Amino acid sequence: MPTIFSHAIFSSALGAAYAGRATAHSWPPRFWVLAGLSSVIPDFDVIAFGLGIPYRSVWGHRGITHSLLFAVLTGALLAGLAFRRQDLAEMQRSRFSLACFFSLAIASHFVLDALTNGGLGVAWLAPFDHTRYFLPWRPIRVSPIGADFFSQYGLLVLASEILWVWLPSLALVLVARGFRRNTNRQHNLN
Ligand SMILES: [Zn+2]
Repeated sequence: MPTIFSHAIFSSALGAAYAGRATAHSWPPRFWVLAGLSSVIPDFDVIAFGLGIPYRSVWGHRGITHSLLFAVLTGALLAGLAFRRQDLAEMQRSRFSLACFFSLAIASHFVLDALTNGGLGVAWLAPFDHTRYFLPWRPIRVSPIGADFFSQYGLLVLASEILWVWLPSLALVLVARGFRRNTNRQHNLN
């Protein structure tokens, strides 16, 4: 996995793009907290190692909590439980739209995992198909689980995540902002 920080940074960038013209002040803080945390949730499955569940099992790391079904259900749950009708009116978003966003933010976790160069692949199609998948291109160094992170390899992981996750996240925010400015300008001209 990339580190949980990188997952959170990427899904926060997705949140900024999704929020559009809205700012951190005009949307409930809950949205921003959940945008960052939602993409970290799948890695709670590392407790499987402590419980003696094999990595390869569908209940193991990168198994069921890394499936599209999990992303859709958890995304719908977050959108359904964490926002009141009044929040939705203020945000000018429907519950369905928020559910789609959170599902996408969670699914971004699987994409980043599938870009890493180690461990087992991601069980995207679980529980229907337990095959573990990677993407054909895997530039992100896999992050060690536990104390090994504070090592020379840990620094290489961090450098690879800055290059392949943090910078693209920044680019995403800047492109979304540029796109928004352009749309505003065209709006003003009309
Ligand atoms: Zn993961």
